Amino acid sequence: MNIHEHQAKEILKEFGAPVSKGIVLLSLNELEKEFKKLNSKEFVVKAQIHAGGRGKGGGVKLVKSFEELKTKVKEMFGMNLITHQTGPGGKEVKRIYIEEASDILKEFYLSCLVDRASSKIAFISSTEGGMDIEKVASETPEKIITNKIDFKKNIDSDEIEKIIKPFNFNNEQKSTAHILIKALYKILIEKDATLIEINPLIITKNQKIVCLDAKMNFDDNALFRRPEILQLRDLNEEEPAEIEASKHDLAYIKLSGSIGCMVNGAGLAMSTMDIIKLHGEEPANFLDVGGGASKEKVSAAFKLILSDRNVKGILINIFGGIMRCDVIAKGVLDAAKETNLKVPLVVRLAGTNYKEGKEILDKSDLKILSATDLNDAAKKIVEAIK
Ligand code: ADP
Ligand code: MG
Repeated sequence: MNIHEHQAKEILKEFGAPVSKGIVLLSLNELEKEFKKLNSKEFVVKAQIHAGGRGKGGGVKLVKSFEELKTKVKEMFGMNLITHQTGPGGKEVKRIYIEEASDILKEFYLSCLVDRASSKIAFISSTEGGMDIEKVASETPEKIITNKIDFKKNIDSDEIEKIIKPFNFNNEQKSTAHILIKALYKILIEKDATLIEINPLIITKNQKIVCLDAKMNFDDNALFRRPEILQLRDLNEEEPAEIEASKHDLAYIKLSGSIGCMVNGAGLAMSTMDIIKLHGEEPANFLDVGGGASKEKVSAAFKLILSDRNVKGILINIFGGIMRCDVIAKGVLDAAKETNLKVPLVVRLAGTNYKEGKEILDKSDLKILSATDLNDAAKKIVEAIK
C-alpha cells in the first residue's frame, strides 16, 4: 500500500527526521484557515497523488505571495496530472500539500528498502538526487551506492557512516543524518514499510538537512497489525476494479492488454500471461482466484474481468487441485448469464472434477471454445479476438 507524501512526512516527523512545516488541503475553502499555521514568505504547492515525477508534470509549484498561492491551489485542484508514473491517462488532483519553501543548496537521493534477494535491508544513496534519478541509474549507475544491513544485528554507526559517505556532510549535518538513517530503519521495521524514498534529501543554504520529498510503501500482508497505517489508505488513488477485487479476496491487478485471464494460483497466472504474450497479444489483467474459491467468488472474478472495457476475449485456465473444476464451471455460467457475455471465451480445465466441469459448460448454450492444453488455449483466444 502506498501513502501520500504529506502522510509519509508526518511519520518521518514522528520518528525524529527533519521535515518542513506544511498544511494539507482537501478543498480550496480550507486554505485561509490552515494557512495561518504556516510561517514563511515562500511556499511550494504540491499535488498529492500516488505517483512520482510531479515536479516535471506541473504538480510542484513555488509561490511567493498568498495571492499567488491561492491562484495555484485553485488551478491545481481537479487538474489531471500526467507524469511518467501515472500512465498517459494521468491522475486527478484531489488533495494538495502546501509546504514552506526551502532554499536548496544540494539535492541528494536516499532510500531504504527490503532487499528480498539478500534478505537484508538495503540503503541506497546518491549525490545525484532530484528529479532525474531514473536517468542516473541507467546512465551512471556508479553514482548510486548500495549498503546492505543485516536486520538481525540492527544498524550501527559504522554502517550509517558508509551510507552517508557520498554526501560529504560536516559534523553537525552528520549527527542529523545519523538520526535520519536510524529513523528510516525504525520505520521500516516498526511500521512494516517495504520502501522509504527521500528524493530529494537536501542541504539548505543554511547548511541544514531536510527531507524534501517522501515516498513510502507498506507490506499489504502486514496491514492487519498496523491499523494506524491502514487508516492512511486513500481509495481515490486505487484502481476501482482492484478495490472491488480486494472485497472478494481476489488477487487482481489491472493491466493494459485485451485478453482477460482467470487462473488459479499465482505461478499459473504468470505463465498464462506469458503464453498470451508469446502468441502476440497482451493480458488485460493478472487474476488469481485462489485455492478453494466458491461459485460466488468465481462469479465475482468473471464480472471483474468484464468490467474492463479493453477486454476483447477471456481465457480461463484452471488446474483443479483443491479447486474443483465443476465449481469453476458453475460460477462462470452464472456470471456469463448475468453479464450477457458477448466476447469469446476459451476454457482450459484440468484436474479435479474436470469431466463434470466440461459437461456443465458443454451442456450450456454459451459459446465456449475448449482447449486441450495451455498453448492450445492461448492460440485459440488470440485467434478468436482477431
Ligand atoms: P516529484 O519527485 O514528484 O517530482 P518532489 O517533491 O521531489 O516531487 O519535488 C520536485 C522538486 O521540487 C524537488 O526536487 C525540489 O527541487 C522542489 N521542491 C519540492 N519541495 C520543495 C520545497 N518545500 N521547497 C523548495 N523546493 C521544493
Ligand atoms: Mg521527488
